[in-house]
Amino acid sequence: MSFETIKQQHDNALMPTYGRFPVALKGGKNATAYDEDGKCYIDFGSGIGVTSLGYCDEGYIKAVTEQLHTAQHFSNLYYNQTQIDCAQSLCERTGMARVFFGNSGAEANECAIKLARKYSFDKYGKGRSTVITLCNSFHGRTVTTLAATGQDVFHNYFFPFTGDFVYAPANDLEALKTFDDGTVCAVMLECVQGEGGVLPLETDYLRAVRRLCDEHDWVMIVDEVQTGIGRTGKLLAIEHADVKPDVVTLAKGLGGGLPIGACLCAERFSDVMSAGMHGSTFGGNPVVCAGASYVLSVVDTPEFLADVRRKGEYITARLQAMPHVKAVRGRGMMLGVVLEDDIAAKDVVNACLENGLLILTAKTLLRLLPPLSISQEELDRGLTILETVLKEWN
Ligand SMILES: *Cc1c(COP(=O)(O)O)cnc(C)c1O
Repeated sequence: MSFETIKQQHDNALMPTYGRFPVALKGGKNATAYDEDGKCYIDFGSGIGVTSLGYCDEGYIKAVTEQLHTAQHFSNLYYNQTQIDCAQSLCERTGMARVFFGNSGAEANECAIKLARKYSFDKYGKGRSTVITLCNSFHGRTVTTLAATGQDVFHNYFFPFTGDFVYAPANDLEALKTFDDGTVCAVMLECVQGEGGVLPLETDYLRAVRRLCDEHDWVMIVDEVQTGIGRTGKLLAIEHADVKPDVVTLAKGLGGGLPIGACLCAERFSDVMSAGMHGSTFGGNPVVCAGASYVLSVVDTPEFLADVRRKGEYITARLQAMPHVKAVRGRGMMLGVVLEDDIAAKDVVNACLENGLLILTAKTLLRLLPPLSISQEELDRGLTILETVLKEWN
């Protein structure tokens, strides 16, 4: 079937919510994907940081299919060991105390926001519902997480948005303090702003936010939906700052490709969300949890995480040596490439696509989120494609 036919069928069946690139993907192995015509691509996007162990990892398939052959779903009205194992593993590895499972990053953040407001309500009564988020942040696509997202372009059409979100410029502690008007219950941030343009927050800033939250009893929510599960070379990106947050949200890389969202809280918030307060029919699905437990067991070893940091440094060095590259920023294997002003990242992505490389953008940057398991050979092949594309740019 020709690509044009596939595109036509798509256009007639799906809402046009995405600006898609002209390729129909069919399958893959580790960091190599292939399309409907059998053309191969090195994948530097991993489905936007989702397929952390690449396509069709043997151990992942085994973990998921074994659960699939046991039972594909149980209601959260019943106990289930597979779900418990995944939650326990998350708590042990992150030092958090309790988990709520949903199905996406936005849902994990919804839970975090509800938890922060409920905590504040229980302790102080009404009136402390403001959540401070950062300018340029991204927290999801539900009406509430759009409101949490600190970018005006997302605050359109779907009025009214959930109220009581305010936006502070990133890395500016004094600006954050100006929002202290007695109505605040939480601060929510990404350690590296992903969609906003791969912008890492400063370590001193993260530590100062922690202190400020302690002083005011604000809930410190760290959105690790993109940065979590080894992406930056630590299990959680917040570990680079040696800060312990109150709430951590996870999604993308955790499920290895299956939909999961997780909201983790520290011990003193364990009982904030009581029975009937929150829920999700699919949340904590055993097949998904079996996959997530497997991802965690592979990613969270000192050797694997050291290898992510090593690969990140290698990619950064190679990118910095490429023509038309002004700067490379990010952390571990979450990297953004600032191109010279007259080059549109989207045009580079399209040229890479033609030459067999899938790569992402973030604002005006190229963005790389390769599978953490990418082989050196795949890495070199992908980087050489990008290098060739940039060398021929004029
Ligand atoms: C992708 C992303 C989300 C939203 O996740 P969905 O699974 O698409 O709902 C939220 N926060 C951050 C930081 C993200 O990168």
